[in-house]
Amino acid sequence: MSVIGIDFGNEGCYVAAARSGGIETLANDYSLRATPSFVAFDGKKRIIGVAAKNQQVTNMKNTVGGFKRLLGRKFNDPHVQHELKSIPARVEERNDGSIGIKVNYLNEDQHFSPEQLTAMLFTKLKETSASAMQTQVNDCVIACPVFFTNAERRALLDAAQIAGLNVLRLMNETTATALAYGFYKNDLFEDKPRNVIFVDFGHSALQVSACVFTKGKLKMIASSWDQIGGRDFDLALAEYFSKEFLERYKINAKTNARANLRLLTEIEKLKKQMSANSTKLPLNIECFLDDIDVSSSMQRSQMEELVAPVLERVEQTFRKLLAESKWSVDDIDSVEIVGGSTRIPSIKQLIEKVFNKPASTTLNQDEAVSRGAALQCAIMSPAVRVREFGVTDIQNYAVKVLWDAEGSASNAEVEIFPQFHASPFSRLVTIARKSPFSASIVYGQPVPYPDQTIGVWKIKDIKPTERGESQEVKLKVRINQNGIVLISSATLVDRKELEEAAAATGEQAAGEEKATGEQPAANSGEQADAQQEAYCENEDDNNTSTASSPGGQGWAQRVKGWFGSGNDKAKKKTIKAVELPMEIVTHGFYPNELANYSQQEAKMIGNDQKETERIDAKNALEEFVYDMRNKLQGGPLERYVVEAEREAIVAQLNDLENWLYEDGEDCEREIYTSRLSTLQQQTDPIKHRSQDFEQSPAAFDELKNSI
Ligand code: ATP
Ligand code: MG
Repeated sequence: MSVIGIDFGNEGCYVAAARSGGIETLANDYSLRATPSFVAFDGKKRIIGVAAKNQQVTNMKNTVGGFKRLLGRKFNDPHVQHELKSIPARVEERNDGSIGIKVNYLNEDQHFSPEQLTAMLFTKLKETSASAMQTQVNDCVIACPVFFTNAERRALLDAAQIAGLNVLRLMNETTATALAYGFYKNDLFEDKPRNVIFVDFGHSALQVSACVFTKGKLKMIASSWDQIGGRDFDLALAEYFSKEFLERYKINAKTNARANLRLLTEIEKLKKQMSANSTKLPLNIECFLDDIDVSSSMQRSQMEELVAPVLERVEQTFRKLLAESKWSVDDIDSVEIVGGSTRIPSIKQLIEKVFNKPASTTLNQDEAVSRGAALQCAIMSPAVRVREFGVTDIQNYAVKVLWDAEGSASNAEVEIFPQFHASPFSRLVTIARKSPFSASIVYGQPVPYPDQTIGVWKIKDIKPTERGESQEVKLKVRINQNGIVLISSATLVDRKELEEAAAATGEQAAGEEKATGEQPAANSGEQADAQQEAYCENEDDNNTSTASSPGGQGWAQRVKGWFGSGNDKAKKKTIKAVELPMEIVTHGFYPNELANYSQQEAKMIGNDQKETERIDAKNALEEFVYDMRNKLQGGPLERYVVEAEREAIVAQLNDLENWLYEDGEDCEREIYTSRLSTLQQQTDPIKHRSQDFEQSPAAFDELKNSI
């Protein structure tokens, strides 16, 4: 079984695999390491990755890219409407408000969701890994932008499940990069902690994170981001050239999707050349529109003027990180860059301007994210043995819990995780209740998603005690390893009952850790106290100390304010906990929808496989026709067959060749294989005679003379 890491980029994907010898970035069926994030459709099959991008200009309506930014969103989301401007495929609103991407596949119009398209891409990446590693892939770690919200993370997990991938963790992209950096640089952290800033500037996003390395561990401190990337450079340049062509040639590139796409392709090439060259460079496109050839030129300084607003946002994002990390520039040991767009010289200059350090290129700029994800997968999976390396990630947004307070008109709320809180992590909130209630988890600050709600948990089966008093309900709120915040359990704590039970059985009291099956991080003295009001515990796999979490003591104090029961004397050593049933409403597909999409994906995989086999059978027949004809006409088999038979076979081969271009162009696989085997039956005796001769020329001559 192999263990992989996936960098699912807006423009391209990378897959790295962990083997006992190290990490390797895998090449796809075109011997390339980048697989474009494109899926296309035609009458017979799906076309994914390199092949999809290659045929985009000739099949624009049925070729879809850019779906990473549509994950988990509704059609009328302003963000989606903005993204759709750069997606030439047809996209519609479905009855439930979700996004339906309409393509012509198997000669009928079909709708797919962004999650399904992502799953298709994952299927391709799975195949790439399976063929490169010669083994099935199951476990993986997928990287996602640090700014992804709950809906987007769940959508990504749904896509992976549709593709049959077992995701051990969704990892923030800059955290994956940090792991790729730190894992092999452990010696650097021997004497003192090392503060590193990671800048990832890709196709559609800028992410900047601050990270502290100590021996064998990394801890993310803060992140800042903006939804700008290389494509914004392309669009600014396209705007400029379109205007110029309108004036000079009276043609409007914007009115023609194909011309616009060709322009963007040429601009991207020019932009890359400008990264290496500051002189004036040409842009030429033949037969651009109305058979007119266009030509222009640009130099780097001109581009920098055109993208000044984007550069301004880049600088602001850098400065925001500096402020949020609370580092001064002297605290920074290095600034490491990854992502295609960090090759742009003005970005490197901005790094130097803000952080007062030259941009460092220790990492492979394209592959670091996938390599870090593969390392994380290897650390987590039992399939590969690697050294441990602790990763403490962050929750990028503040999170609150709200619930309807019994007997009060207003909701009660508490900020359970402040922004940049360590992740994974769990906290317990204790609430006194006499009746069932709903608790919502919501973002406590603006997020790049139209809905602030993460989910609503209906906690059931709560009644007053026999004496008519409130019960003690503990909600366990967790940021899990995927950066998803949820209520992972609701427990009713019955102290009295357990006192009796303990007396009856004579069992030693085990405290709440037994009741919840968890290891509390606080010392036991604090723990008993905390259990009365609210309780923090650290579930971080790397056992970072609780004190280092930003919420720490201050949080406990705040919560005390909310829930203070004044019941300090009830410090029981034994308690009984009853798990309460919950009904959950959150983002993502329902299990039956997921099962349905998985089935559809499996069917499409089957169909693609059948189509590949059919094409292979046709190619095999075609190849046989050419090869045999060459061998029989002046080739090595000519002397092993009598003239009449040879002519008859060649005539048959000629007929077959014509048939392959006409009626036989598009047949079932079985027709090609049966024609091939009929031919082979005729030609095998000739081949055998030639082989016999090679083994024993004398015997063959004797046989020939005797005929
Ligand atoms: P994202 O991280 O936003 O989801 P991605 O991971 O697919 O997207 P990358 O592969 O990191 O993005 O970067 C692709 C971008 O980098 C493209 O916009 C591309 O034009 C740009 N790029 C690549 N090489 C260069 C270069 N030499 N000069 C300028 N830009 C470049
Ligand atoms: Mg990227």
